[in-house]
Amino acid sequence: MAGLSTRLMHSDANTQRRTIDVVQPINVTTTFRYPDDPDDYVMAKDRPSEDISTGRPWYSRLSHPNSSKVEAVLGDLLEGEAVVYNNGLAAFNAALTYFNPKQVLIGDGYHGVHGILDLWTRNHGLVQLKLNEVDKLKEGDLIHIETPQNPYSTIHDLSYYVKIAREKKCKIMVDSTFGPPPLSNPWDFGVDMIMHSATKFFGGHSDLLAGVLVTKDKAVKTQLVEDRIFLGSNIANLEAFLILRSLRTYEMRLLRQSSNATALVKWLDENRDKYPKLDKIYHSSLQKDDFVKKQMTGGFPPVFSLEFKTVEQSKRFPSKLTLFDHATSLGGVESLIEWRPMSDTHERETLLRVSVGIENVEDLIADFKQGLEQIEKEDN
Ligand SMILES: *Cc1c(COP(=O)(O)O)cnc(C)c1O
Repeated sequence: MAGLSTRLMHSDANTQRRTIDVVQPINVTTTFRYPDDPDDYVMAKDRPSEDISTGRPWYSRLSHPNSSKVEAVLGDLLEGEAVVYNNGLAAFNAALTYFNPKQVLIGDGYHGVHGILDLWTRNHGLVQLKLNEVDKLKEGDLIHIETPQNPYSTIHDLSYYVKIAREKKCKIMVDSTFGPPPLSNPWDFGVDMIMHSATKFFGGHSDLLAGVLVTKDKAVKTQLVEDRIFLGSNIANLEAFLILRSLRTYEMRLLRQSSNATALVKWLDENRDKYPKLDKIYHSSLQKDDFVKKQMTGGFPPVFSLEFKTVEQSKRFPSKLTLFDHATSLGGVESLIEWRPMSDTHERETLLRVSVGIENVEDLIADFKQGLEQIEKEDN
C-alpha cells in the first residue's frame, strides 16, 4: 500500500466528475441536472441507496461531488466506510440514531457529546451510565469511549471495554478525535464504529466544521447515509472543499503538531522545579499505564492541559504568551491556549488546555519559558 501522504493526495482520484482542474472546484449548486436521455432516467424508488454518497448527485442534502471525495479520502485514511457530517456532534447524533440504545456508558470527555445525550435523556428517557457502572449494561446498549480523552488527553484501555461490550452484547464506538491516524488505530482492538470531529485535526486550519463516522460494514454505511438525508446533516459545499484541501497536508501537520506537543510537555515536566506556581501537567506521554504504549503506537496527541496553583494564575497565563492565541478549539496549525472555564462549565477553574500548532518548537518552548517567568514574578 502507498504511504499515507500519497494516499491523501490520490485516494479520491476515481470518484465521479473528474475535472481537468488540479484543485477540485467548489460546487455551489444544490441541484444537479438529470440525464438528457429519457432512457437513462431512474425513478427514486429504483435508485440503489448504496449510490447516494458515491453515484451521480441529484440534491446536495444527499451528496455532492466534494462530499463524495471527502468520504473517499477519509475512508482510506480511517480504514473503513466513511460517512461525513456537517460537524462532530452531528456525527455523534447520527450514531445514536443508528444504534438507538436504551443506555449509553460514557466517561467524562467532550461536553457537547454530553449535551446531545442530555437531549436524548430528556426526549426519549435514555439512561446514561458512568464508566464504573459496566455491571448495569444490557444487550443492545452502547459503550462510547473517548480516547485520548479531552482535555487531559487521558488514554482509556480499549481492550477492556471491547471485552465488556462482547460479554454484554453491546456496541462500542470510539471518539478518536484526539488520537487520529497514525497516532492510534481503534480498529486494532475490535471496536464497532469510530467517530471524529473532523473540525479538529482533519480540518486543521480552524476554518471549517465537519464530522465523520467510520464503519467496517457497507450495509451500516448505507443506513447512515439514508438517515443523514433526513437528519439534514451532510457536509456543506464550501466546507467539503476546505477539508479536502486540508487533508492533502494532513500527515505533515499532524506529525509536527504531535512531536511539538510531546517536546513541549517534556520540557515542562523536566523544568517543573523552576516554576513552583505550575501545579500539574496532563498529557498521555506522562501516563504510565501499560496500555498507553499499545494504543498510541504512532505518537501522542497535540493537546495537553496544565494547572497553576491558583485560579488567578491560570486566568492570567494566556495573556503572557505571544505565540498561543487565547481561544477555544484545537487541532489547527496555529497554537492555542484556553482557560477552560471559558467554554466548559464543568471544568476546574485552574485548568488551561493547550493545542499545539506547527510553529518551530524552540520558539514555543521559549514563549512558555518567558510566560512562566512572568507568572512567577507576580504576587498572586
Ligand atoms: C470538538 C469535539 C467534538 C465535537 O465536534 P464539533 O465538530 O465541534 O461538533 C466531539 N468530540 C471531541 C473529542 C471534540 O474535541
